[in-house]
Amino acid sequence: MSQDLVTLSDFRQRKQYRTQELGMAGIAMFMFKEGSRNAFNNERKDPRFRDNYNKLFGLSLPHMDSVDDFFRQLPETELEKVKVNMVSHLIRKKVLESWKFRGHYVVAIDGTGMATFDQRHCDSCLSKTSKNGVTSYFHNVLEAKLLTTSGMSLSIATEWISNEGKKSYQKQDCEQAAFVRLAAKIKNYFPRLPIVMVADGLYPKAGFFNICRQNNWKYIVTLKDGSLKSLQEEISWEKRVNHKQKSEITRVDKTTVTILNCQWLKDLSYREHTLNWVECIEENTSKKTGEKHWQRFVHLTNMDIDSNLCIGISDTGRLRQKIENEGFNAQKNHGYALEHKYSRVDFQAMRNYYQCLQIAHIINQLVVASKTINTLLKKTWKFTEKHLWKRLLSFMSEVAIFESELTNLTASRFQIRLE
Ligand SMILES: [Zn+2]
Repeated sequence: MSQDLVTLSDFRQRKQYRTQELGMAGIAMFMFKEGSRNAFNNERKDPRFRDNYNKLFGLSLPHMDSVDDFFRQLPETELEKVKVNMVSHLIRKKVLESWKFRGHYVVAIDGTGMATFDQRHCDSCLSKTSKNGVTSYFHNVLEAKLLTTSGMSLSIATEWISNEGKKSYQKQDCEQAAFVRLAAKIKNYFPRLPIVMVADGLYPKAGFFNICRQNNWKYIVTLKDGSLKSLQEEISWEKRVNHKQKSEITRVDKTTVTILNCQWLKDLSYREHTLNWVECIEENTSKKTGEKHWQRFVHLTNMDIDSNLCIGISDTGRLRQKIENEGFNAQKNHGYALEHKYSRVDFQAMRNYYQCLQIAHIINQLVVASKTINTLLKKTWKFTEKHLWKRLLSFMSEVAIFESELTNLTASRFQIRLE
């Protein structure tokens, strides 16, 4: 990664720091979960922190104002490429191999709100006017994240939903339009990767099915009751005819007994597409109170389906919720402060901070999932991830790192093994 940072474009007049120092500082701010530029600047005032940082990264730590100046001019695609190279490396090294679903990497598509402003923040803001005439301005982002059943969620491509370059009378950008651009990016970054796309009820439309077919991607997509009317009619008829195409399994954990009841249908047609359908009724019974509650999930897929395969399809379709739970939730609430306005005025800088956050989140997830740290956290230390970061920061400002210790650590070949 550090090699990628050396080659970042440089438009600055005064060059006090090298590009890799500026890029790394942006990423490190999120790795240490500082929450704001100001907090990281305060850390920087401490000579021991600065010295340890210097030894750990082999780079000086610039003031965040210098990073901000640099990020206002740096094209977003450059940091995105750093992120893509990291994930490609993990894929090549087969680190994520065991989380493939039937030979395919699970990639979730999901959008989220990033920041809201009372006043126009930049030319690219989306805007919304409420009934009482108040206009708010905001930025939304669409993400493709590689998911693992162990709970990791790694950004592989980002597309901003934004009015950049649009004239005021044109229609605002939207998630569907952004998906077309995002899909092109994914194909460009990962041309031969076997992918199964998982997406929510906004997506099952001819355009989405076409893109998946063109790119040779599998998909598992949520079907809402009201959408694709002609297909819904076919489904309700076929459901009665093929009522025996069912499967049931029971799962038990510490607190709950879960019964999954799936029904499936094959070779349905929607326009020129042939697709398969699965409905899963989940019944959860609390062991303690005996209380029951039910949930229903319906998915469409172009993956093969039968009584053995249908539960796996439904499980994978539902993994998408993890992008909210594990991914966005972690980035909003667990120290990364996704919605904090790292750049109050500049859209370009804001996008670069966002990429830094994604890179840092990938690194931190790998650290926590690595066999060594995972075992220490669960068996030896028995404290939370949050506490580990607190300890890390106090270590950085209180303990002097010796060059010789680092040399010893890095001398042997380092391999990431994940739990
Ligand atoms: Zn804006």
